[in-house]
Amino acid sequence: MTSAAEQRARIDALFEAGTLPRADLRALIDGRDSASADYLFEKARIRQTENFGRDVYLRGLIEFTNYCRNDCLYCGIRRSNRSCNRYRLSEAEILDCCEKGYALDFRTFVLQGGEDMAYTDADICRIVSAIRMRFPDCAVTLSIGERSTESYQAYFDAGAERYLLRHETADPAHYARLHPPELSLENRVRCLWDLKRIGYQVGAGMMLQSPYQTTDHIVTDLEFLRQLQPDMIGIGPFIPHKDTPFRAEPAGTAELTLFLIGVLRLMFPAGLIPATTALGTIDVRGREKGILAGANVVMPNLSPTGVRGKYLLYDGKICTGDEAAECRFCMQQRVRSVGYEVRVSRGDAPRFRAAAARGCSAPPGAASGKD
Ligand code: SAM
Repeated sequence: MTSAAEQRARIDALFEAGTLPRADLRALIDGRDSASADYLFEKARIRQTENFGRDVYLRGLIEFTNYCRNDCLYCGIRRSNRSCNRYRLSEAEILDCCEKGYALDFRTFVLQGGEDMAYTDADICRIVSAIRMRFPDCAVTLSIGERSTESYQAYFDAGAERYLLRHETADPAHYARLHPPELSLENRVRCLWDLKRIGYQVGAGMMLQSPYQTTDHIVTDLEFLRQLQPDMIGIGPFIPHKDTPFRAEPAGTAELTLFLIGVLRLMFPAGLIPATTALGTIDVRGREKGILAGANVVMPNLSPTGVRGKYLLYDGKICTGDEAAECRFCMQQRVRSVGYEVRVSRGDAPRFRAAAARGCSAPPGAASGKD
């Protein structure tokens, strides 16, 4: 049994120290209720405002391929899903998305896709440098999965400054139950440390309430994140997809996702934490609630409408029929409705801001990545 006073004491301690012993983190999560969630979000908003004011950063998401060599058990674009209608965007189509996005005030383009080896390293580098050349005041984020150290270095040298790679779960046995045998937590973690060493702004994160997940796993995730110290942390609920082995598993809840956003804001006061599409999918006001729980990034979709409905990681995904402009302004209204404002800027992680202003990517002290 957890009393209200004990929950408050845990939240106060987390607010002050940015960390809690393992047993207290577990008790905080397991003992959550609406009163402790409200108190947590109040504290999270203090840290959010200290670091970011009322700004929410915009990222333009371009889902450029739904081909994937992997077979993750939860994912709708897994290679063995024969019902998935596959597509790839050409370089010209990707640049066209950026063009439209730039006119709509986006200053970060996130290129996300399955692990599609039809795009060679040279292709990715060419696309990244074309975007950087055409839009020099914009940042390019890649989210294209597990690659070699050399590939990550090449993309970085071509101008990609940020990389999103959720670790999904930091417990190796749990990882093995969500993925096929050829994928390992060890390699995923190797990728994340490589990316950091090279000098990227790195995003990690986990799916919440994926099958077999326990509170203990979530605490392990939080401890892993504390070690890694990523610049961005993306979390979202697991949502089943009808053509995957997890089709009958229950979806995660907005309630737990929001609580964890609050916890993460206290652990990473200067972190970039998105209010994700998955959160907006399980709750119509999920993204607004995410901002009020401590999130400070939103990622409207810039993909061409013709392919939107094909990048289906899970059932019921929202915004699959909207134009880029509709998504952009819908998001602005949602953000305003809770008293925040979308900001037209690259929205770099705080420790990279000075470096970005000087025109170089890496923060002081980052390895050159070439040694
Ligand atoms: N291939 C890249 C990678 O592995 O990071 C990026 C694309 S991957 C589809 C993007 C993210 O979608 C994953 O990190 C995972 O957390 C999320 N995702 C996939 N299937 C999901 C599901 N059924 N429910 C919620 N999120 C899901």
